[in-house]
Amino acid sequence: MKALRQVGWQQEPELCDVDEPDPGPGEVVVRVGGAGACHSDLHLLHDFPPGLLPYEVPFTLGHENAGWVHAVGAGVDHLETGQPVAAYGAWGCGYCRSSRRGLENYCERAAQISGHGGGLGRDGGMAPYMLVPSARYLVTLDGLDPVDAAPLTDAGLTPYHAIMRSQGLLVGGSAAVVIGAGGLGHLAIQILRAVCPATVIAVDERDAALAAADAAGAHHVVRAGGDAAAQIHELTKGRNADVVLDLVGVEPTLALAASVSRPMGHVTLVGIGLGSYPFSFFSAPYEVSFATTYWGSHPELVEVIALAEAGLIEPRVQRFALADAADVYRRLAAGEIDGRAVVQPD
Ligand code: NAD
Ligand code: ZN
Repeated sequence: MKALRQVGWQQEPELCDVDEPDPGPGEVVVRVGGAGACHSDLHLLHDFPPGLLPYEVPFTLGHENAGWVHAVGAGVDHLETGQPVAAYGAWGCGYCRSSRRGLENYCERAAQISGHGGGLGRDGGMAPYMLVPSARYLVTLDGLDPVDAAPLTDAGLTPYHAIMRSQGLLVGGSAAVVIGAGGLGHLAIQILRAVCPATVIAVDERDAALAAADAAGAHHVVRAGGDAAAQIHELTKGRNADVVLDLVGVEPTLALAASVSRPMGHVTLVGIGLGSYPFSFFSAPYEVSFATTYWGSHPELVEVIALAEAGLIEPRVQRFALADAADVYRRLAAGEIDGRAVVQPD
């Protein structure tokens, strides 16, 4: 079968011939219905030098996947062939304290495991079939098309986890700022609208992303740069934001995030732009907490899928064939994708 693979660091991906996988005991082969193209793949392909991540190339890209059960290994008796499923993508050891809490994204033994998931050091979903190493990673779908479910597993789950850590701040009268209204951002806005009463302000530098943010339910959209901080100050009647999600992570967005947070607010850095922000006594309002978040937990994926099944969130999806997957990344890098690009390998 054909698979879009990361074959080197700081190198373009290649469409290669690989063997179809066979499931071993406890494993499942999924016929991939949708594999989302995440901006993290661009960092993986273009930005990260060899040795930064604790895994090797080559591997098949695609870490946000959904499809149908194709074949199950010995001992898997709760899944049936053809059943629609979404894959929890952070593959930990399953036994450490974090894993047992469903937080395999923070597996305590991650350094001893080769690869952090399919599409992240192990073979992912940019191929007609994908091996999922444990049936426990699959969440069955009840009515969602795998193409729409795929983005939920990362573009939905990641902001959901970031929002949930700040749930206690997102009360009546609060404000949340979402910087970067792309694949993650358009879902972050929808999730905020679904789970809390906060006023949602979206920031982006592209017209199409600002329009997508508006369609996703943002109360206000603000163009990045210039007087963005002043506008947010005014929109919040001088109180600034209780929660800021930086889904870009470059120096200007981190500076904006800090400047529009209010005392005791949360600034959560999700974007992997590798920018930094000076931390000192007067560099941010009092008691602002800064945190990075990585992906989300397995129970949170179940919750995100439930939000979508209830019609409360809906990924905006642009569909592409596997043969065009390399071009999808070019378009993503050029800012030509609205919402999420999903590759349909089948
Ligand atoms: P995307 O390309 O779909 O969206 C990024 C958006 O940010 C675009 O709309 C773009 O116009 C906007 N943007 C870029 N520079 C900006 C700036 N200076 N000011 C305001 N907006 C700006 O990307 P995505 O797939 O949504 O991913 C977003 C980031 O999140 C990436 O860095 C990705 O690697 C990261 N990510 C992190 C995790 C995690 O677990 N921490 C998970 C998934 C993705
Ligand atoms: Zn991702």
